Amino acid sequence: MNLSETQAHLEASRCLFCHDAPCNEACPAGVDVAGFLRRVKTGNLLGADALIRRDNVLSEVCGHLCPTEELCASACCRSALDQPIDIGGVQAYVARHSRVHGPIRPISAVGHGTREHVAVVGAGPAGLAAAKRLVELGYRVEVFDRNKLPGGLVTYAISSHKYDKDGLSFEIGLVEGAGVDFHLETEVEDPLDLLEAFDAVVVAAGWGRPATLGLEGEDLAHVYDAGTFLGCVCAWESDKSPTRLTLGDTLLVVGGGNTAIDCALSAKRQGVGRVVVLYRRSLEEMPAWKPEIHRALDEGVEFEHLVQPIRFVGQGGRVTAVECIRMQLDGSDGSKRPTPIPVPDSQFLVEGDSVVVAVGYRGHRWIVDEPNGPIFWPAEVQVCQAMAKPAGTVVEAVASGKSAADQVHNHLSEGT
Ligand SMILES: Cc1cc2nc3c(=O)[nH]c(=O)nc-3n(C[C@H](O)[C@H](O)[C@H](O)COP(=O)(O)OP(=O)(O)OC[C@H]3O[C@@H](n4cnc5c(N)ncnc54)[C@H](O)[C@@H]3O)c2cc1C
Ligand code: SF4
Repeated sequence: MNLSETQAHLEASRCLFCHDAPCNEACPAGVDVAGFLRRVKTGNLLGADALIRRDNVLSEVCGHLCPTEELCASACCRSALDQPIDIGGVQAYVARHSRVHGPIRPISAVGHGTREHVAVVGAGPAGLAAAKRLVELGYRVEVFDRNKLPGGLVTYAISSHKYDKDGLSFEIGLVEGAGVDFHLETEVEDPLDLLEAFDAVVVAAGWGRPATLGLEGEDLAHVYDAGTFLGCVCAWESDKSPTRLTLGDTLLVVGGGNTAIDCALSAKRQGVGRVVVLYRRSLEEMPAWKPEIHRALDEGVEFEHLVQPIRFVGQGGRVTAVECIRMQLDGSDGSKRPTPIPVPDSQFLVEGDSVVVAVGYRGHRWIVDEPNGPIFWPAEVQVCQAMAKPAGTVVEAVASGKSAADQVHNHLSEGT
């Protein structure tokens, strides 16, 4: 929900402006939360906006998308009195207000182009943050992305009901405006190749490809992996692609993480009548953020817990059902999460017109070269840590892009 001017002001006025501001520590991107709330309280929206954007290239996007209840708001001292400050809500308000009404301070790229030439692979949150940091430090920066549009998973996986796409375009525009060149629809085969033309490379290529279940029938028509499904939905939503998937009346989603819930919600919004999430543990163990699960329940998504798909069943080459087996939880091995164990002879069919498999991501080939293990890059190539953390957040990706840019800067300026 977008906060109004009054709501944002009242929310900022509830801040205790704690001396040690634990909210600042809890923000992965290092935003001075207490500082921007103070500026909002005193009516200095331009200053508040500049303070947030100094540390977070995707200010408005993160205002909407950050799981603040797990980050800054979880550290908020105001919780002891009543409830935490709606930090994300105020941040989104400030960023949107500046975008719509101005003025806005452009990214400061004073010495732009006076230093070495750096390539960034990936125009997602990590790549954008790295590009911003490098251009501010005076480097000539070029960003390469294989997609048609920049923004990474924010553009191609996160449904527009969760944030304002105009805010994303605007924030990318600020990076472009600072002198960063974007080469879209340009796949990089090997980051080392770029060292022929660039002095250093930041690799911000994301989580890699969605994992599959490896089950019989997974190649049937209308069985989609989460990446393909969300990519098509997002492209269709932004009116950039005529591709609209045939989903039918009942869609099954396999998985229990945030991606599975996003797929379920997106399917509902595409008009699918019945959406059922199949998950092998119980609701308590679902890794998806709890507010997202409740949102899905509110929007009519059904959950079938303690079931494990064992086969996709089809007719005429297209999926018609998923054969599942019931599971029970066993906590006897002392591990944090109980282990799901199949209940003998409990197979059953769940019928569906289409299926989305959302069961995580395979390690990126530039992080781990299976079966040989981790890949080590020369100091000129800095890999963003977000690539090694599937299920991370936008703000963590922003932090990892800044950190990779700093490593490049240290290497080029001090040879470390
Ligand atoms: C369904 C879903 C919902 C999510 N919801 C939220 C949410 O609500 N809140 C939140 O904080 N986070 C959410 N996330 C997580 C968030 O989107 C990611 O953490 C973030 O996008 C990671 O940023 P990144 O820059 O590391 O990678 P990406 O966003 O994946 O960007 C990587 C970019 O690199 C490009 N690339 C890759 N390889 C190459 C190559 N060889 N050559 C050229 N370009 C290449 C890709 O095209 C892509 O544009 C969600 C993710 C998903 C999948
Ligand atoms: S912890 Fe909460 S109350 Fe304290 S400064 Fe941060 S936002 Fe304000």
